[in-house]
Amino acid sequence: MSKRLLPGQSVGIIGAGQLGKMLAQSGQKMGYRLGVYDPNSQACAFPLAHWKQAASFDDETAVLNFAKEADVITYEFENINGQILENLAQTNKLPQGTDLLIHSQHRLMEKEWLESIGVKVVPFRKAENWDQLQQGIEDLSYPVIIKTSRFGYDGKGQFRLTSPADLEQNEADLKAIMNEQSCIIEAYCPFAYEISVMVSRDQAGQVELFPISENDHQAGVLFSSLVGKTYPVAVTQAVHEAATKIAQAGKLVGVCGVEFFVTEDHQVLVNEIAPRPHNSGHYSIEACNFSQFDQHILAVTGRSIQPIKLLQAALMINIMGQHMSMLDEIIDHFPQAMVHIYDKGQAKFQRKMGHFTLLAEDIQSLETLLQTDQLLLTMKSMYHKEK
Ligand code: ADP
Ligand code: MG
Repeated sequence: MSKRLLPGQSVGIIGAGQLGKMLAQSGQKMGYRLGVYDPNSQACAFPLAHWKQAASFDDETAVLNFAKEADVITYEFENINGQILENLAQTNKLPQGTDLLIHSQHRLMEKEWLESIGVKVVPFRKAENWDQLQQGIEDLSYPVIIKTSRFGYDGKGQFRLTSPADLEQNEADLKAIMNEQSCIIEAYCPFAYEISVMVSRDQAGQVELFPISENDHQAGVLFSSLVGKTYPVAVTQAVHEAATKIAQAGKLVGVCGVEFFVTEDHQVLVNEIAPRPHNSGHYSIEACNFSQFDQHILAVTGRSIQPIKLLQAALMINIMGQHMSMLDEIIDHFPQAMVHIYDKGQAKFQRKMGHFTLLAEDIQSLETLLQTDQLLLTMKSMYHKEK
């Protein structure tokens, strides 16, 4: 199915958080009518929408009703119930299909699928009960990271274990979790650095990659993305190959974020995928000819995606709840930055409230800034303590 939407036609977005908001902004720029669906009627994309529906993600009738107003449906929220997704796909309004979404909803299935298409990942084991968990840890040896198969994000639902004592300490929590869902045990990857790339594919099968972004996570949450560095050819080739395989095998339509670990000896392993715009691609709004949101709208509306050019080197910094009281300082200190505030209401600790992007002709100046700027170092340290 490939139908092309013309400006004036309607795109419905499931999920109205900041990703939905920035998608809606791109779509509106191109003249589309945008609808949003979210359980939270205060969600930040609601004020922008041409039509909206506040209802549970599990409310099939409401989702299908919402879809009636749309010429195509897309999503920024990944955990849509499988049956609802199937029914949405039946309406012929879901150009993204269901494959990639279903693989990425479940960390264990995701890693099994990635291996099956020849993409390298860290060694892992499945744990559905305590015996399997102990056996899996023995196979992989400490340190390991245990993650819930479903519903984890921003480091939530993860246990980092370095010794049997750590396991013992978390025994009750892990057993309670495994009563509800399976876990994945991953060998800890001693990566030299973490990178990600946004890969895009349109309905005609054209694949285009965004530039590589180097990501710094603090307490499992993205702090910064630096874009424009040069990497060893072995790394760029491996990234290109893995992202292209994922896009093609997953029949991607739109953009998909692919996160990687890179080791000291230039081994490139996929950490996870997110079949939608991704936080580490926000820099593209200011730094590229087409942003990740523009490209996604082009793909789902049946238009041709475009080759991506990085116009300037970029540094994106997240603004979390704990940084909101520093906004005036941020604006004073970086008057040249484009500061995005999502309007999400209460500024809670570790809640993504906005981001800003700095551009430069040369990557070196941004790298130095990231390493030495006092305000950035303060923002970085604030991921580790609750105020
Ligand atoms: P989330 O969905 O929360 O982003 P991730 O699996 O990407 O979950 O984990 C968040 C961060 O935790 C990663 O970006 C990385 O810094 C660290 N991490 C996760 N898995 C591993 C691993 N196997 N080895 C080393 N670090 C890891
Ligand atoms: Mg991640």
